[in-house]
Amino acid sequence: MREEDIRPEALARRYYELSAQDADRCFPAGQERLAIPCVGCGSEDAGPALEKNGFAYSRCGDCGTLYQSPRPSIGAFEAFYRDSESSNYWSDVFFPAVAEVRREKIFRPRVERLAAICEAQGQPVESIVDVGAGFGIFLDEWRKRYPAARCIAVEPSAHLAAECRAKGFEVVEEIAENVVGYDGVADLVACFEVLEHVYQPLDFLRTLTSLARPGGFVFVSTLGVDGFDIQTLWEKSNAIFPPHHINFLSVAGFERLFARAGLADVAVTTPGQLDVDIVRNAAAKDPTILDGQRFLSELLADDGRAAAFQRFLADNRLSSHCWVIGRRPENWGN
Ligand SMILES: [Zn+2]
Repeated sequence: MREEDIRPEALARRYYELSAQDADRCFPAGQERLAIPCVGCGSEDAGPALEKNGFAYSRCGDCGTLYQSPRPSIGAFEAFYRDSESSNYWSDVFFPAVAEVRREKIFRPRVERLAAICEAQGQPVESIVDVGAGFGIFLDEWRKRYPAARCIAVEPSAHLAAECRAKGFEVVEEIAENVVGYDGVADLVACFEVLEHVYQPLDFLRTLTSLARPGGFVFVSTLGVDGFDIQTLWEKSNAIFPPHHINFLSVAGFERLFARAGLADVAVTTPGQLDVDIVRNAAAKDPTILDGQRFLSELLADDGRAAAFQRFLADNRLSSHCWVIGRRPENWGN
């Protein structure tokens, strides 16, 4: 898989432009912002890390998590998501253009990998909740593998919720925190590429946990700060783009966050495939990125070694694409 397959440059450039405009329009300078504790471990020990589009990011001195802080109010973010040209562009133009490529290259392998994890744990999945289900492609692929499974889509966008309904899924048209009547319903709660956007990750994760049955799994995929492309590109990383992406936990931060939410048997892996391609693409556009990096430049110039290096990153929890899974204990919430 290549970055260009799932994130064509022309579409991505437009998306980032609109996001920068939304940042100016919805979050004017002078608006009140508050320093917040680490979204991973809760520590107050943090220092400034970088700035982008007028948003500052802090780095936790304890677990290394990178997070947007001082943070505007939750009301400002809610207004942004209600009326945001960049979000509309994502769901109306960008995603539909790459949906079928992503189905094949991302969603199907995702189902295979997640199913294998559950099966290895001896956990049959008779009911699954997808939080932030989008166009319902993940559930569509899950249902192909498990036709009898109860599939529930939690999706706040009216347009996307309608897409999920059209595919025949049970749909809850709400943000996860407002879902009622689904406590303990799922053998597996899955949430892909949402946590990086969430205002209060701990509350959000507790909500996901409440949807799982006692003994059931909570699964999250998201971006992590320990990843090669983010560490290498830092403020030049396109993955770090406010106001959309505001949380980049470290591996230690994920472990602490899941433990704080009361989850057990937490496991973090980074099965990413694109870190090396992302850095190569960025360096092709801006060669100064690898200035003085003689070893890395040589390594990345060779296709075979670059591919082997990507496998090394994934195997050593050094990719920025992270998978975190935990189990709801029997006595959770008591
Ligand atoms: Zn921390």
